[in-house]
Amino acid sequence: MDDSITSSLLPTRPRTASSPPPLPLPVAMDRVFQALVATLAASAAILLPCLAIAYLCHRRTSGGVKPHCRCYSSSALPVTAPSRSCERVSSWSFYGSDVDCSLKMLSLDDLAGATGGFSPDNIIGDGSFGFVYRAVLPDGADVAVKRLSADRASGGAGNREFQAELEVLGRLSHPNLARLLGYCAAGSDRLLVYELLELGSLDAWLYGDAAAGQLPWPARLRIARGVAAALAFLHHGNDPAILHRDIKASNVLLDEGFEAKLADFGLARIAAGGPAESHLSTQAAGTAGYMAPELRAGVGASAKADVYSFGVLMMEMVTGRRPSWPVRINMKGKEVEMLKWAREKVEMGTASEIVDRQMAIQGEGREMSAFLNVARRCTEENPKHRPSMEEVVQMLSNSELN
Ligand code: ATP
Repeated sequence: MDDSITSSLLPTRPRTASSPPPLPLPVAMDRVFQALVATLAASAAILLPCLAIAYLCHRRTSGGVKPHCRCYSSSALPVTAPSRSCERVSSWSFYGSDVDCSLKMLSLDDLAGATGGFSPDNIIGDGSFGFVYRAVLPDGADVAVKRLSADRASGGAGNREFQAELEVLGRLSHPNLARLLGYCAAGSDRLLVYELLELGSLDAWLYGDAAAGQLPWPARLRIARGVAAALAFLHHGNDPAILHRDIKASNVLLDEGFEAKLADFGLARIAAGGPAESHLSTQAAGTAGYMAPELRAGVGASAKADVYSFGVLMMEMVTGRRPSWPVRINMKGKEVEMLKWAREKVEMGTASEIVDRQMAIQGEGREMSAFLNVARRCTEENPKHRPSMEEVVQMLSNSELN
């Protein structure tokens, strides 16, 4: 086909003075094809990123993206859950992570019914943030309910405690951690529901009237091992490490078999970096007598500060004396803190003088002295000289202690 025939087949357009002459057919087709390709490429450049963003949003809202921590789901709480088992309230997000949806959200009515209307008869504990109640859920399950006192619940420290418990403890599972089962946030009320630990706290077993002298050495050793395992899990089984920041006798609860369950994660924080360099630059927190010296000097919290508090707890379990209480030294008549007194005795090789007489020790001297040596190392003034919790667990499972 020659060019004159081709041009006669094209639709004719009125010619203007400025319009260019018509193009030959193959050239015109080429231009159309190029325009088509350019349009498709531009659309793909816009559409693909949009699709990627939409996919990521979908995964996040459907729970597919989890923070990097060893997460285990808590067992289901045996109550009728609301139609949505977990309500996400983004303003609660404390560490950039959401509340674990395996936790049950309970209504205030559920919990009022379970505690006999928050009856004083059901109070089993009194912490700085409010009362803890024994509660029986509609199906007969026994639980403990911590109700943050109204003035502290919805704002300030109480709310931080509530968030920390939910976002740290709520995501963890370990045989030596108290299990958080559910929560309630209604108006200004904040409540937390835990497994009930029938034997109460180590503090009550060491100092409570009824329990005096009831905690023999093998039980104390078993409890110390349990707390060490829990702390090693927090520091080394999670990335980033989790710092408890409030290790003390009243935060160690006991089950029927005297197995230790570490509780109260209200001050817990996720550290930056691994356990060795884990560090937090928040203001000092903890309980007098258990706090590492560097915290009082304004250095931020670290895994080694938890190790120190654990060492104080070990000394407390052997001596049966509160760390905050001064001990009168007979020889010189002056008063020193329990820890200083106990460390001196261990270093001088006269540790038998500090042992709690109520334990009625028989032939466990070698075991006790190995235990006290670990406690002495944990409470070194310089954090670098303290062992890691993994090392503590190893030392406590050493044959010397069996
Ligand atoms: P603080 O708030 O000053 O740290 P605390 O650790 O004693 O003090 P809570 O964690 O509120 O405060 O606990 C108070 C007490 O309630 C505990 O010492 C314990 O006796 C009791 N308790 C808490 N949780 C449970 C539980 N799950 N099972 C049984 N008893 C519990």
